[in-house]
Formats: sequence, structure tokens, C-alpha cells
Amino acid sequence: MAKKQFKAESKRLLEMMINSIYTQKEIFLRELISNASDAIDKIYYKALTDDKLVFDKDSYYIKITADKESRTLTISDTGIGMTKEDLDNHLGVIAKSGSLAFKQENEAKDGHNIIGQFGVGFYSAFMVADKVTVVSKALGNDEAYKWESQGADGYTITPAEKAEVGTDIILKIKENTEDDRYDEYLEEYRLRAIVKKYSDFIRYPIKMDVTKHRPKEGAENEFETYKEEETINSMVPIWRKNRNELTAEDYENFYNEKHYGFDKPLKHIHINADGSVVYRAILFIPETTPFDYYTKEYEKGLELYSNGVLIMNKCADLLPDYFSFVKGMVDSEDLSLNISREMLQHDRQLSQIAKHIKSRIKSELQSMLKDDREKYEKFYKSFGRQLKYGVYSDYGANKDTLQDLLLFYSSKEKKLVSLDEYVSRMPEEQKYIYYATGESIERIEKLPQTELVADKGYEILYFTDDIDEFAIKMLMKYKDKEFKSVSSGDLGIEPDESAKNEAEEKENKDLFEAMQELLSGKVKKVKASKRLRSHPVCLSAEGELSIEMEKVLRSMPDSQNIQADKVLEINVNHEVFQALKAAHANDKEKLKLYTNLLYNQALLIEGLPIQDPVEFTNDICKIMV
Ligand code: ADP
Ligand code: MG
Repeated sequence: MAKKQFKAESKRLLEMMINSIYTQKEIFLRELISNASDAIDKIYYKALTDDKLVFDKDSYYIKITADKESRTLTISDTGIGMTKEDLDNHLGVIAKSGSLAFKQENEAKDGHNIIGQFGVGFYSAFMVADKVTVVSKALGNDEAYKWESQGADGYTITPAEKAEVGTDIILKIKENTEDDRYDEYLEEYRLRAIVKKYSDFIRYPIKMDVTKHRPKEGAENEFETYKEEETINSMVPIWRKNRNELTAEDYENFYNEKHYGFDKPLKHIHINADGSVVYRAILFIPETTPFDYYTKEYEKGLELYSNGVLIMNKCADLLPDYFSFVKGMVDSEDLSLNISREMLQHDRQLSQIAKHIKSRIKSELQSMLKDDREKYEKFYKSFGRQLKYGVYSDYGANKDTLQDLLLFYSSKEKKLVSLDEYVSRMPEEQKYIYYATGESIERIEKLPQTELVADKGYEILYFTDDIDEFAIKMLMKYKDKEFKSVSSGDLGIEPDESAKNEAEEKENKDLFEAMQELLSGKVKKVKASKRLRSHPVCLSAEGELSIEMEKVLRSMPDSQNIQADKVLEINVNHEVFQALKAAHANDKEKLKLYTNLLYNQALLIEGLPIQDPVEFTNDICKIMV
């Protein structure tokens, strides 16, 4: 009989499973039990809408059977089963294509450690077995089929005998090696412990024939062993348990079992609400940004259960976009089971839960910021950008919720600070919250525009994210203090020599006008700078649109030719200014040369492209010879 080949990417994952040196091989059982439970869920849903199908609770279960002699471990379920096509389609390819992409990306970094941290699913069986046999009979079918594979070289599907609907997964357990004791996956106590650790809350009974002892009949002080079927999971979902009974590890295991993330959760939030809305929830804040988080492929949402039964995998309505990184589940008793997505959107109960969850997440983040700064900064590194998007989007509707969760790098503290911390440190006479924008902290630190504000001793917030300035424009104020870019026209600071500056401005009116003429179409104005100390020039912007915002907007696909109103500022105390004055008086060609050079220098400092780099270098050569 011809062997079928695995799809290419499945084969790779399979090979990784087979050769895995991952220590937590035990998770294969979690994966197979989770599949069995999913299969029973499917019959359950069918019964909800199909009158002919009655879901009789007692006839649905999962059974684990270990046989040391034949070295087989069998996981059976009375779920919906698989047709011949299902076996081919579902076991021949990877269900979660995202897993592999992630894996490839991270393999180099983390070696083998990543394996088992996420939904490797069915193939994880090959970590402990050198042959996997699946015998399945699908609901509504008369024939059963057998899928069999010894690893990466392919699989076969043949007709088989099976009385009842459901699936048996039969693992031929590997022989022990120097490093690994595979025997333990045939030991009752070990299997029981693994089930307890990962699958205790599975809603269906997980049964196993357990060895017991009893007094031997007719013989005193002698015992005999016998087997008795026992349900080894408590079937109580973790979210129904008492918080005090649970350890951080229990939550972590749940996070992994559910494949909420590839990492460890940074924080868990266990809610047991029985006020005006009654629900239970376990929410997680992941530690790292999912690889697809800032793409449009990322789907937010929480699992939604109605009285312990999963009714939706990703209920988006439960989370605002700005908290889209939160993972977890919500269980509410009052939701109807076969409620549609559309109906859910208008469900009052659900929107109340969403509101409740939102404020809970906010307060948890706030206390993290207050009590565990290090953890919060870790969180902020992963998801801070999303909070800033949140401030900006919906026309600022959520800014009050989010403003106290923002952090920015401070020129003075040399670390992230909150707006509240900034404002509480402001000297009495300081009018504005100052910020400077740029590509990186190092670049902003060298910006000439920061000189005056920094000289005054005022703290400056450094904006290095595209979204920062947009978000802040939406906020407008924090605690009645307006935000002010260090490049904006009026800084609200009177420099000591302002009188002198104005005089210079008047005196040199002609010169500035001539320069402006030379730069027409490029800058709106040329003027004496109030903010420069040691640098000869800089650019600033008049009006709402800053130069940094122009850059961001122009990088967008359908941007029009948006331009900030730029002003070329000249430091009249700089030696260069004397050269300008002299050129203006004596040599118009030289003035043109100097003006262009200064303008291009200002562009470079801002990180803007020079329109004609060849001309610029030629100009430099001209002054060298
Ligand atoms: P996932 O569970 O994430 O879909 P798996 O690799 O664990 O990925 O399983 C692949 C698919 O194989 C499942 O989606 C399901 O369709 C099918 N499958 C696996 N085990 C069973 C089972 N015991 N009963 C019915 N179908 C199963
Ligand atoms: Mg699975």
C-alpha cells in the first residue's frame, strides 16, 4: 500500500518532534486530551441544534489505557470521530500555520526550548512514540479507518474495525535511551500526575483503570490486586476554583494548555464577579509581543464560555482595541448557548462584562505601575505602543482612561517617566510640558532645538515612536499643562537676551528677507533664533503640523504632499552669522551659497532628506578651496 507524504511544513515540525531534546515531553498527553475534549465538544454542539442527537452526559468520556507488555498507551474518546478525508486533511497538515512561522523565527534564538511552549498539537505524540496509530469512526458513518505513521516518511490510511463512534490514538512508546525514560509514560502514577497538572479542568471525565488492593478471599493477611476504573480529573475548571487554592504555576499551566501565548504570562487576573454582572474570568497579560501583534492579521478577543461550555474562541467585543494584548477567558451563566456573533454584539450582559473587564485591566495596570515598576516597564516595552494608539484613535475618546498609563523617556531622569511624575516635578514658573521628537534617544539628545529648554533646567520628554506626537496632540493637556514641542514657535520661555534678539531681528531684516527669498518654497520664514545656544541653525515649524508629523504622514501610502510650515532659525550669536552678514553686504553669490549650506545642514539635523545631495557636496567643496 502506497505511503502518503506529509505536507512540507508538517514534515519539518514532525522531524523536530521526533528529534526533540525538549525536556517537557509530557505535554504530548495534554495535547491529545485536549483534542479528545474538542471532539466531544463538537458532538455536544451538534446535539444542541439537532433534535435526533441526544447528548447523554454519561456516554461521553476520555479513557487512558497503558499496556506495559505491548508498550502501548491508548487515548480513546467518544467524540465526533474523523472520516477518511478528515484523517488525511487534519493529520497530514499543521492546523496552526502560525506556530511554524513563529518557530522558524525563534529557533535560532532559543534552540529547542521553544518546542512545547505552544500548540504543537497532534504531532507532539511523536516525542514519545515511534509509531502512532489512529483508529476513528466519524459520527454518521458506518466505516472506520486507521491512520498510521512511523514518522516523517509518511502515513497510511486503511479501512478498520471499530464499533462505536469516536477515536483511539494508540502510541507505541519509544524504548528508553540514556537520556530519557520513556517507560514512565506507561506508569499509572505518572500518567495521573500529568493529567492532574495539565488537564484537571477538562469538562469530561478522563478515566483510567487504576490498580487497587483488596484482602484476598479465604486467605488471611494476604492481598490481591485488581483494576478499577476511576475518573482522574476533578473536572472543575480552574476559573471555578478558589483563588487561594491556586498557585502561579497553575495559572501558567492553564495559559500554556490554552495556547494563549508562546511565553509565560507577565500577570494573571482572576475575576469572580457576583455584583450586578455575574461572571468569572481569567485574564492574562503576556510578557512578550506576539510576532503578529502589530499587524492586521492579529485578532483580539477572549474565549467565551456559557456555564462552562466554550461558545466562542475569540470574542472581540469583550476587549477594547487598546487592551487587545490581553488573553484569557470569560464564563457567564446567563448567556444563551447558540447565540450568534451578531446577537452578541447587542447583548447587554456582554457589554456590561466588557465594561467591567476594561476597568479591571486598567486598575491592574495602574497598580503594577505603582507597585512593581520593573514589571510595568517590561509590559510597556511590549505593549506601550498599543496604549498610545489607544489615546490617538476614536478621536481621543479614551484618553482619560489611558493617559496615566503612558511612559516617556525623560531627559533628566534618563529613564521612562509617567506624565504625573513629570508634572509633579515642574518648577512653578514652567508653563508647558516639553517634548522633543526624533528617531532615537541618542539623536534627540543632540538636537539643537533642545538647547534653550535644557539650559533652563527643564525636563524634556523624548518621543521616539511615530505615534507619540499624534497621541500627545490628542491629549492636548495633562493636568492643565499643555504639551509643547521644543521646536515649536513660541516656547513660553523668555531668553535673557530677548531684547538683543529683537534688535538683531530688526537690524537684519534685510538679510533674513534675502535668505527667505533664496529659500522660497522651502521655508516660510528665516529668523533669529531664540532657542539656539551653540549650534548655528535649526528648523522649527509654525502651526499645528510638526516636522516629525510631516515625516510620519508622508511615509503613509496615500499621503498627499503634506508639508509642515518650516522656519529656518539662525543663531545670531554664532560666528557663522558674521559671515552671513558680510556676504549679504558684499557678495550675493556667497550669501546664496551660505544660505543653501545652512538650510541643508538644518535638514540633515532633522533627519530629513536633502533635495540635491550632489549640489550640497559641491557647495562644501566650494568653501574648501
Ligand atoms: P488543533 O487541535 O490545534 O486543531 P492538532 O494538531 O492538535 O491541532 O489536531 C489537528 C486536527 O486533527 C484537529 O483540529 C481535529 O480536526 C483533528 N483531531 C485530532 N485529534 C482528534 C480526535 N481525537 N478526534 C477528532 N478529531 C481529532
Ligand atoms: Mg489540538
